[in-house]
Amino acid sequence: MKEKIEKLIKTIHDVAPKDRKVKIMNVCGSHEHTITYSGMRSLMPETIELVPGPGCPVCVCSESDIVNAINLSKREDTILATYGDMLRVPTQIGSIRSSGGNYKMVSAPHEVLKIAKENPEKNVVFFSIGFETTTAPTAALIEMGLPKNVTVLTSQKLTPEIMEVLVKDSEVGVDAFVAPGHVSAIVGADAWKIFPKKYGIPTVVAGFEPENLLLAILKILLQIKEGKAELENVYRGVVKQEGNKKAQELMYKYFEKADVNWRGIGYIPKSGLEFRKEYDHINAKKVFNLPEIEEKKVAGCICDKIVLGKAYPTECKLFGKVCTPRSPKGPCMVSLEGACNIWYRFGK
Ligand code: SF4
Repeated sequence: MKEKIEKLIKTIHDVAPKDRKVKIMNVCGSHEHTITYSGMRSLMPETIELVPGPGCPVCVCSESDIVNAINLSKREDTILATYGDMLRVPTQIGSIRSSGGNYKMVSAPHEVLKIAKENPEKNVVFFSIGFETTTAPTAALIEMGLPKNVTVLTSQKLTPEIMEVLVKDSEVGVDAFVAPGHVSAIVGADAWKIFPKKYGIPTVVAGFEPENLLLAILKILLQIKEGKAELENVYRGVVKQEGNKKAQELMYKYFEKADVNWRGIGYIPKSGLEFRKEYDHINAKKVFNLPEIEEKKVAGCICDKIVLGKAYPTECKLFGKVCTPRSPKGPCMVSLEGACNIWYRFGK
């Protein structure tokens, strides 16, 4: 293994351009974790920049959705159920945990059924956030049939759509993508075809082991050397070209593309999923008539820039001083998938 990795790093050095910078973006918190934890950046040639992008679901969840979730948890007749990472995300009115409402942590959507069964007199609201990897299990939960006392508050985002926004933003200047392994298992490698085809950006689907990520980086650099832009998949054991058709069907049975709000960024057309009209009766936004709440940015927090690949965590003046995983000021410091949290724990 050690020899294989050393050989890959040597070949990356041989192949990397000497006369221009190459900015390779990952869009997955687990990729960023592997890159940072393994010290991969320090092993790269000077011309290669490995930049984290929008790979942390907690970081991009709109403040409006979280404030609404907090307010629901404060109702006497309601229990909010959501993932552990969401509980500590700071907002203008505190976090779900600090607000002292009725909430329960779940690690998978089906746990909501147990909460509903044990609390038949309560409304149970499942706060479902994230990218395709969490939308699909939420759709599967709905397909199982929700008890009458369960509704779903969604804040679901789409990965290919935000990547297209980044490609069009000259301030970001992405040269290549390492496409996310987990999301690709749902949407399929073909979902990223648009990047080489329409925008001339080499894109390689990768898994989470350092060796696999290094291979993806090498494939990208070989394409650049040969003047090509193609879609490649070095995570074939898990990711099929067409993805998980059943999961895709379920997602689009209950949800449809919509303009959604990204924290610190604002509304991006067709960049997320909302319930189809016929499911208003299980859509917590409709059932509880939830308002749109204006975002209040955390002074000094540049999480929005970090998520868009326009800044690194260490460029934030609050990083590691007033903002730490124990006392997060912005969303990127909360989740183990947030770039600030990862860089704080492992260095860059
Ligand atoms: Fe925001 Fe904290 Fe990251 Fe700064 S270090 S960008 S305040 S999350």
